[in-house]
Amino acid sequence: MTTAKIIGGGMAGLAAAQKAAQTFDDVELYDEGTYADSREGAWGELVPNYQQFPFSKQVDGVVRNIDQIELRTVEHSTSRQITEFKLNLQDGVIIDRDVYETMWATELNNQITVYEDHPVTPEQLQDWCGTADLIIDASGPQPVSQNAFEHISSHSKTIETVSTQQSGKFRQYYPIPVAVIFGAAKMYVTTKSQIRATYGVGWDRTKAPDNKLQRFKSLCEEAGLPVPSEREVVYGTEPVMGSRPYRQCAFHQDGTEVRLVGDAAGVVNWASRFGLGRAIASAYAAVEYHNHPKKYIDWLQDSTRGDRIKHQILRLLEQGVGEQRLMSVFGQTRSEYPLHWF
Ligand SMILES: Cc1cc2nc3c(=O)[nH]c(=O)nc-3n(C[C@H](O)[C@H](O)[C@H](O)COP(=O)(O)OP(=O)(O)OC[C@H]3O[C@@H](n4cnc5c(N)ncnc54)[C@H](O)[C@@H]3O)c2cc1C
Repeated sequence: MTTAKIIGGGMAGLAAAQKAAQTFDDVELYDEGTYADSREGAWGELVPNYQQFPFSKQVDGVVRNIDQIELRTVEHSTSRQITEFKLNLQDGVIIDRDVYETMWATELNNQITVYEDHPVTPEQLQDWCGTADLIIDASGPQPVSQNAFEHISSHSKTIETVSTQQSGKFRQYYPIPVAVIFGAAKMYVTTKSQIRATYGVGWDRTKAPDNKLQRFKSLCEEAGLPVPSEREVVYGTEPVMGSRPYRQCAFHQDGTEVRLVGDAAGVVNWASRFGLGRAIASAYAAVEYHNHPKKYIDWLQDSTRGDRIKHQILRLLEQGVGEQRLMSVFGQTRSEYPLHWF
């Protein structure tokens, strides 16, 4: 009898459970929340490449197709000059993430056991080592493993986010999702319809202002978006690519293979900040290579290598001319870029 235990029921945990159900006799998935409630904070909704997802676009939770995203830079020093350009998407969709995750968990229900409202503690995780064959830690940016095992560090590079879901008039942001760069603050506006949108701002941890809520509100005003009240915002953290040494993501503890996947592993694309597709892909890889820790570590390295090189090139250019100037040069030289370059 082989057992796999999955901690976290977001995209990474669901993908791990789905894959594990193919080879393990007993698969248990634990989430500290429930699928019945609105999954507050489960708002990453822009999927640039839906091919990475396992269901057809006809399932609940897929809102609509998109083939472009617009990038705007706002230059304060030159009387708020705005530069705009479009990036192409290969197979983009907008999803309602809470609906999508609920649909996925329901689909899995007859193959695995789902424990909702069940936070896994570090002690519990330690106890499972030695009894389960495989443990997948998909518990997000601050994974349980961090408090269970001394050799797991916290992420070295994170983006601090403030986001909201609102109803209102979003005609000027519909149908193409928009990313607005206000200096160190990057804002995403993802419209579900002309009257429903999710938007938020992210800053590198080192550049986040003291009063993030106040700054978010003033950026909403500047962007012509409804200004949320304090209770309508959610604070989050996004660990970016390479923020955890990949060798920490696969290890053997008291006879059990442990793997970190998704945000726990730190695989969010540095420039675009998309992490949903990577969360799913890393979960599949972790289960596939559950007996080969080195192969999973190599997979993490290989899957982010291209990004790292682009990151280095963009960082060098950015240091020379500044991010806004760099983006405006991109905007002036060509009107369309493939998003995967970022
Ligand atoms: C504001 C914001 C906007 C974003 N927008 C996008 C976007 O548009 N497109 C995109 O591709 N990416 C986006 N991202 C990134 C994306 O959301 C993440 O990369 C992705 O959700 C990671 O999935 P995950 O399953 O690893 O983690 P999570 O989605 O964080 O899931 C972790 C799960 O673990 C559960 N959990 C946590 N602790 C425990 C515990 N102790 N016991 C049991 N369960 C636990 C939580 O309840 C949760 O369900 C965004 C991120 C943020 C913060």
